[in-house]
Amino acid sequence: MTTTDRRTALTACAGLVAAGALTTGCGTKGAAAHPAAHPSGSAPAPPRTSRPPAAPTAPAPRRFPGHPVQVAHGPRDRPRVALTFHGQGDPATARAILTEAERHGARVTVLAVGTWLDAHPELARRILDGGHDLGNHTEHHLDVNAMTEAEAYAEITGCARRLRRLTGSIGTWFRPSRAARASPLVERLAVRAGYPHVLSYDVDSLDFTSPGAPAVTRTVLGAVRAGSVVSLHFGYADTVAALPALLDELDRRGLHAVTTTELIG
Ligand SMILES: [Zn+2]
Repeated sequence: MTTTDRRTALTACAGLVAAGALTTGCGTKGAAAHPAAHPSGSAPAPPRTSRPPAAPTAPAPRRFPGHPVQVAHGPRDRPRVALTFHGQGDPATARAILTEAERHGARVTVLAVGTWLDAHPELARRILDGGHDLGNHTEHHLDVNAMTEAEAYAEITGCARRLRRLTGSIGTWFRPSRAARASPLVERLAVRAGYPHVLSYDVDSLDFTSPGAPAVTRTVLGAVRAGSVVSLHFGYADTVAALPALLDELDRRGLHAVTTTELIG
């Protein structure tokens, strides 16, 4: 592929995905990874193969030494917080929240429900392209702690398989569905499925009770401190409406909203 050809391909690609995805998306990875292979465009183009483009690969889960398996907050001595979202519901609210966070220079963590990703697969790349963390929130968002071992494992691995198909990774975090903390069994199953940590939280916004945007902001700001992991939800208008004031006040307090990987790492 000549430089001109590659530029044409990249331009076409840019219409499909955000610019940030170009190094890993749209099948340009091989060409971009070996730019010196055809200096000045004079070498013959390599033969085209019928292989599909390489799948873009998202970050894999990591073990964070010194932290328990079940993580509820990060270090208290650094001015950072993690806003973490239950990933389900109207995709328009999801996009509005991501855009608003990005406008403030904030990054968030989305724990996606498998069936939601099935209905809106494009949101997986949207989340990753914005620099956010993407994780596993079970396949069907049932009470995973109340399930048998086989059922619970299927809920975790079902969502993990879907994430891997869409992004090349099972996602960086697992959060249990319908519970703030995983039971000892679910914790073990998450580790077996490939997640060294289970993501809990120490601040509950209660946004899913639709208390009005001011109440969501008040609840979070009353409890949040350095190192906090805040539980929020996609799919609720109050959350979208609360976010600008919430992010403004976090900024004013010098608390930077980062991904959970940044918070813990
Ligand atoms: Zn949830």
